[in-house]
Amino acid sequence: MTSPTPPLPHLALIGAGITSLTLSIRLSALQIPHTIYEQSPSLTELGAGLGFGPNAVRALEHIDPRLVETFNKTATFVGTPSPEGRKILEREGGGNEGDKVWIEFLDGTKQGGNVTPEFVIKAGNGRGHAAVHRGKWLDVLAGLVTAEIKFGKRLVDIIDSEGVGGKVKLVFGDGTVAEADGVVGCDGVKSRVREILVDAIHGKGEGKSKGKCGYSGKYAYRCLVPWDKAVEAVGEDRAGVSSLWMGPNRHLLTFPVNRQKERFLNLVAFVTDKNQTWSRTEASSLTLPATRTDALKDFEQAGFSEAVLQLLRMTQEKMDRWGLFDLADRPLPMFFSGRIMVIGDAAHASTPHHGSGAGFCMEDIAILGALFEEAITHKDLTVDTLGDVFAVFDHRRHERDQWLVKSSRRAADLYEWRIPGFQGPSGFEKMKADIEERQEICWGFDVESAVKEAKGEMYRGSQR
Ligand SMILES: Cc1cc2nc3c(=O)[nH]c(=O)nc-3n(C[C@H](O)[C@H](O)[C@H](O)COP(=O)(O)OP(=O)(O)OC[C@H]3O[C@@H](n4cnc5c(N)ncnc54)[C@H](O)[C@@H]3O)c2cc1C
Repeated sequence: MTSPTPPLPHLALIGAGITSLTLSIRLSALQIPHTIYEQSPSLTELGAGLGFGPNAVRALEHIDPRLVETFNKTATFVGTPSPEGRKILEREGGGNEGDKVWIEFLDGTKQGGNVTPEFVIKAGNGRGHAAVHRGKWLDVLAGLVTAEIKFGKRLVDIIDSEGVGGKVKLVFGDGTVAEADGVVGCDGVKSRVREILVDAIHGKGEGKSKGKCGYSGKYAYRCLVPWDKAVEAVGEDRAGVSSLWMGPNRHLLTFPVNRQKERFLNLVAFVTDKNQTWSRTEASSLTLPATRTDALKDFEQAGFSEAVLQLLRMTQEKMDRWGLFDLADRPLPMFFSGRIMVIGDAAHASTPHHGSGAGFCMEDIAILGALFEEAITHKDLTVDTLGDVFAVFDHRRHERDQWLVKSSRRAADLYEWRIPGFQGPSGFEKMKADIEERQEICWGFDVESAVKEAKGEMYRGSQR
């Protein structure tokens, strides 16, 4: 006689960003009951383009093939090298019709309208740099979510005092309380769940300091430049390929994104902040108001070329300045404690210099989903075994996720000529090799093998 299947635990997902909604789609496919709690009154995504590398796409395929189908339909793929980029590839023995590039790297301080790249990094997916519009992607995810999303619910506390088998209490800013069997914090950079977790690990009161992201010492201006203006500034060939202009303590990244039927140039201008505009420990607001003039001043002072300044002149007058916060200085010792865990940016908020933060969130979901699936197959996913699933997740993901946080910081320092031995034009060859190696670590993640290994770890040597 087969044993009865125990009831599956009800999870609370905190936050309704990309991580939470994608995880929800996977949980629903596994019939794991859950509710999403979001602090905002509706779904919001700030910023414009979101690049997905091949690892992210493989993870999406594993999570739900419908996601890849939609991604292929909605993403903007830009991979055809510029004529100058192709010449570089040809010199290196490539330059075939099918060769696609990820980013062309330019010396942003070279004057004279020069838009010739110093080196080119080939795309790891054979298709080029692939980016979706953030808001549109969130809408795609929301269209596939079947679980309830409760808006206006800002989590302030979690009370887990009833021991094994009991419910966890969620306390919200509006004074209401909800219950769940386990909590998955998908609440991003300023995660409250992370703070509560750190309290649980290090002792009450520690979360307010050790559980917070720190200022990376860099900020970024982000905006969409209308396509005709971008072409006017740097020409169609340059605007049409992902480009990164390097320079001392600054770098500028551009790539095309399509929104509805319109095309834009997504522009992100990064600055190493010698004034430490944000304190290293506190981030009351991740953005501060700024202007085009501020951005221009930042790049003029650093000696950037007319081509770069011309691009910046094409931005709108009012822009936000985004403080880049991460967990490089305060890595979490563990992603879980008991029945509470964090995932996505809540677990490993990173600066964006590998273009892989969200991609690693997708990898997290592929692994967590596989572990839940394995536990269900063993009729073993219960309130009391949630912590075991979270522990294996932590073991499988911690090192790789934390690597991204550290490596991303280094990548920006390479782009901004801040690392001895890799500085300026003489260091380009070495820099290229270093960046290629790091991107390969991001892109090369074998989701299927990782899923298999994670599942294998769940019941290895266990008599359960
Ligand atoms: C400038 C920049 C460019 C980037 N570019 C890329 C890229 O090209 N490719 C890539 O892969 N990644 C990129 N990233 C990283 C990527 O944006 C993040 O990794 C991703 O958005 C994280 O998603 P998330 O759902 O974990 O967190 P978030 O998107 O931050 O979502 C968290 C959600 O939780 C909610 N929330 C927060 N606190 C609470 C609370 N107490 N109670 C209830 N709800 C709460 C928030 O309102 C929000 O909706 C970039 C990041 C930046 C800053």
